[in-house]
Amino acid sequence: MKAPLSILVHGGAGPHRPDDDVAAAQAGCLAAARAGHAVLKRGGSAVDAVEAAVRLLEDDPVFNAGVGAALTRDGAAELDASVMDGATLSAGAVACVTCFQNPITLARRVMEDTPHIMLVGAGAEAFGRARGLPVIANERLVTAQARRELETHRVSTGTVGAVAIDGAGHLAAATSTGGTTGKLPGRVGDSPLIGCGTYADDMKAAVSCTGLGEAIIRVSLARHAADLVASGLDGFAAARAALEALARARGAAGLILVTPAGQLAWAFSTQRMARGWVNGAGEGAGFGPDPR
Ligand code: ASP
Repeated sequence: MKAPLSILVHGGAGPHRPDDDVAAAQAGCLAAARAGHAVLKRGGSAVDAVEAAVRLLEDDPVFNAGVGAALTRDGAAELDASVMDGATLSAGAVACVTCFQNPITLARRVMEDTPHIMLVGAGAEAFGRARGLPVIANERLVTAQARRELETHRVSTGTVGAVAIDGAGHLAAATSTGGTTGKLPGRVGDSPLIGCGTYADDMKAAVSCTGLGEAIIRVSLARHAADLVASGLDGFAAARAALEALARARGAAGLILVTPAGQLAWAFSTQRMARGWVNGAGEGAGFGPDPR
């Protein structure tokens, strides 16, 4: 049976705070999921859909990606992003880029236009300029909210990601982030690392992660979750089991996934994870734990 066109996005896992703008996070995730789903309905690929969804979230200052990214100790936005195509196992990633609003598109260009998987810093930026991607001053990525978080030493939340299955049954995953507030300049988290923050394989699953990157990297969380789906676990059971592996790495995180059968699933060991989805059964959004 053909899987329904489906997309699931996340807007970051983290602590639940009294001043969290739950409505804005849910609305942003749902809008991104709808945008990605519209791409699928027009016959676009899963890669097209996750890129479109993540671009919208990068443009939304509510999230820690693109505009509104978490800031380094020095007050700059340094962005990481990656994308993976489950049909071909092609992948592209960028890290520590400072002058693009949509690093996910730069990551896709790396995937499609170079023999490499990842470009970082000045080299990634030179490549993006040469490809004609719009360049933006770093200050324009910095929001008052991100500055306040840096000043008050708050844990950043709001990394974004998307997973999708298209009409040909192909899977894709994408993730984009400003990383962790107050990080050292040059720090790279899990989000641009294939197998850690992002993974997609048509024979396993497509996965995007969020949470403490240093812990996620230690257990290769995205690949681990995909392997658990391939071993026969239901999507939700696989997502939960993958997070159990994080306990040893002393981290809390969340992840979203889509299985080759088109099941959308998620789990988080943080207090909450913003998410939104559109599938054959309809659409929805969540923030905290699912109602039982
Ligand atoms: N995983 C991201 C990082 O460590 C942060 C997050 O998801 O909140 O860069």
